[in-house]
Amino acid sequence: MEKGKKIWMDGILIDWDDARVHILTHTLHYGLGVFEGIRCYLCEDGRSVIFRLPEHTERFFKSAHIAQMEIPYTPEEINNAIVETLKANDLKEGYIRPLAYLAEGSMGLYPKNNPVRVAIAAWHWGAYLGEEGLKKGIRVKISSFVRHHVNSGMTKAKIVGNYVNSILAKREVVASGYDEAILLDTDGYVSEGSGENIFMVRDGVLKTTPLTSVLDGITRDSVIRIAKDNGIRLVEERFTRDELYSADEAFFTGTAAEITPIVEVDNRTIGTGKPGPVTNTIQEIFFDVVKGKNKDYIDWLYYID
Ligand SMILES: *Cc1c(COP(=O)(O)O)cnc(C)c1O
Repeated sequence: MEKGKKIWMDGILIDWDDARVHILTHTLHYGLGVFEGIRCYLCEDGRSVIFRLPEHTERFFKSAHIAQMEIPYTPEEINNAIVETLKANDLKEGYIRPLAYLAEGSMGLYPKNNPVRVAIAAWHWGAYLGEEGLKKGIRVKISSFVRHHVNSGMTKAKIVGNYVNSILAKREVVASGYDEAILLDTDGYVSEGSGENIFMVRDGVLKTTPLTSVLDGITRDSVIRIAKDNGIRLVEERFTRDELYSADEAFFTGTAAEITPIVEVDNRTIGTGKPGPVTNTIQEIFFDVVKGKNKDYIDWLYYID
């Protein structure tokens, strides 16, 4: 990754190289912490926008609530700290990573009084699954690792420890030469990518997994609204891997992955093997929106200068 200049830690901007924690930080040992992933875009007019900042901050607090962690700031203070971090790093465009974690204190599995600390980092991050992947689509494989049961990992929260499951899945498929993993849910239906929600298209109808076992993605929500506004039929319904194999189109959505077309699943070509018309339309609208060209969704943009 590309190093930045400053990291916000508990209200203070610290030099990037000095942003450290104690080795007995509770989250480091057991994974109870929560985070967010947010993007800032440089618009055509030279201004910078954060995409759906209030929604991301709200989810940050919801994740903390699920994890029974009390963030010692208000959402407004977090929003301001995010903007402050971007400015301190002279970032006109990039990725923002707020993290709330349990500091040192009790070392057992009942961290009653460990303080909750918050850090916000920001850095340049281009296309998560590659520029080429965004344009031409990626090859994915269904992992042998299954997404958390809804009563084991809390799938609605971006809880640090949940991502062990994602790393295992991603490493497995990358070792077999694929770009990204799809995880099935505990009932055997398609759930999501390692860090992305998934959509498929068949006979012009867009389908995505219901929120039961997956993260409530803000990009997913944006795509649903864009589809509805553009007369694309959408259903939220579980689907099987073989339904996905015979899809006309498929794509991933996520803050990091943006809208990444999927052109192959488990060695089966999806549609023509190229990003299809529905995917292209949605991707184009999405990028026009985040870059401030399409004013229909101006309420999604949080201008920082
Ligand atoms: C963050 C994340 C997503 C995508 O959510 P966005 O709000 O669109 O970034 C999807 N799945 C998982 C598991 C995630 O962690």
